Amino acid sequence: MNSTDTLPICIAGNWRQGQGDRYASLYPATGEAVAWLRAASLTDVEEAISGADHAFRTSGWAQRKPHERAAVLHRVAQLIREQAEYLAQRQRLDNGKPISETRALVASAAGTFQFFAAACETMEDTITPMRGDNLTMSVYEPMGVVAAITPWNSPIASEAQKMAPALAAGNAVVVKPAEVTPLMALELARICDEAGVPKGLISVLPGKGSVIGDAITLHPLVRRVSFTGGTATGKHIAHIAADKMMPVSLELGGKSPTMVFEDADLAHAVAGVLYGIFSSSGESCIAGSRLFVARGIYDVFIERLAAGAAALRVGDPADERTQLGPLITPRHRDSIESYVAMGVADGGRIRTGGSRPQGALYERGNYYSPTLIEGLSNRQRICQEEIFGPVLVAMPFDDEQDLIEQANDSVYALAAGIWTRDYKKAWRFGRAVQAGNVWINTYKQLSISTPFGGWRDSGLGREKGRLGILQYMEQKSMYWGLNEQPLPWAS
Ligand code: NAD
Repeated sequence: MNSTDTLPICIAGNWRQGQGDRYASLYPATGEAVAWLRAASLTDVEEAISGADHAFRTSGWAQRKPHERAAVLHRVAQLIREQAEYLAQRQRLDNGKPISETRALVASAAGTFQFFAAACETMEDTITPMRGDNLTMSVYEPMGVVAAITPWNSPIASEAQKMAPALAAGNAVVVKPAEVTPLMALELARICDEAGVPKGLISVLPGKGSVIGDAITLHPLVRRVSFTGGTATGKHIAHIAADKMMPVSLELGGKSPTMVFEDADLAHAVAGVLYGIFSSSGESCIAGSRLFVARGIYDVFIERLAAGAAALRVGDPADERTQLGPLITPRHRDSIESYVAMGVADGGRIRTGGSRPQGALYERGNYYSPTLIEGLSNRQRICQEEIFGPVLVAMPFDDEQDLIEQANDSVYALAAGIWTRDYKKAWRFGRAVQAGNVWINTYKQLSISTPFGGWRDSGLGREKGRLGILQYMEQKSMYWGLNEQPLPWAS
């Protein structure tokens, strides 16, 4: 598919090969190598972080006026847009998402740089009310070297969501992309170079999380880690952070409930539930993977949902009409298959899917059919653990109090969906459901201007929104003495 040359990686602005193992990014639709590279080594990590620290202290980036940093970030956004089709095709190969989806992710990455350019340029420090002969103010400073650790499911968008605010705030950023999807972080670093981000401020260190990610997190010069990934990894990072007294933000897993009431607009609800679980092949932290439907409409709704799921187009990610591409790796598909087998062993009935699609197109890729299972209860493992694939578990409900208790009965609390025409009920359930993000009569709509994050095992802290930049800054209070006489105590 591509040359067997080894790609350089970015170590504090120096583009050279990593010193770790050589490996390939594989196209999930065929298993072919898209690009070869060498992972970073521990020596590379040290060089990247000390180089980043040096660049932070000497490049003058942090001291530039906010509108000057913003101008560079606008240029990054512009370059992403100019190279959008190349980037979208590259991401399709790296990760196997359908091309329509990778185009949207590239556009969102450009929008993220534009947004944080504006956030940086318009951010205000505050003068606080005086309570003595002091002018008091609260200002923000960049932290120094910050780390961005990202998963494989939405590259470029995930990386932009961390790199843009971190750079806007004046920091140096060390990016650790998922081992299996290293290419988009490298592309973003190249674009940042072209746009005029000072050399050394960005590093991209592909490699194993347990080795490279750990070394980055433990490094004393790393002042913050912004992590997106699984809950177990997030907890491990939180432990290290506690020892270092280092702030972290953690965007973790989910098992999000969707509730469909008897008075819902069924056409909207069916389309929304299908999109909520099966888009991105279910490899989405906010996938609506637990479905609760009012008993009175349960049979009709499930009938329509199963027909809709069976009609979804699973296939070649390069085809503009494809809705579900392959899963990221054969191993991940194995894990999804074992969850489905567990659901069946526990008494679940498969209404549609539950197998690999058949045909020549599917032979080499990690494909799995959209799957709908019923007949299980919310306490069963398949309803409690994150599957991270195209598997939806549906359950009827009778009673509203019981519904909210079941919806909230999860260690996760990332997102929730509510489908009803009754605005008072929407308000009641919207407030009662425990989740960082709630969609009412829609699902999986996201905006860079709206904060995003989870509760409980779904995470800590918020990304996005105007205040997202503050994650990458330290707050400082300043007191300016205005007293005409020396302080009285010693006088
Ligand atoms: P993962 O936790 O295995 O890996 C995420 C990143 O962490 C990768 O770069 C990995 O190499 C690195 N990593 C692994 N071990 C590490 C360690 N010991 N120290 C430091 N870094 C380490 O997750 P994944 O399988 O890549 O992604 C899927 C998970 O991500 C799912 O649980 C999903 O819900 C979650 N996710 C959450 C959000 C969100 O915003 N809440 C968004 C996307 C994905």
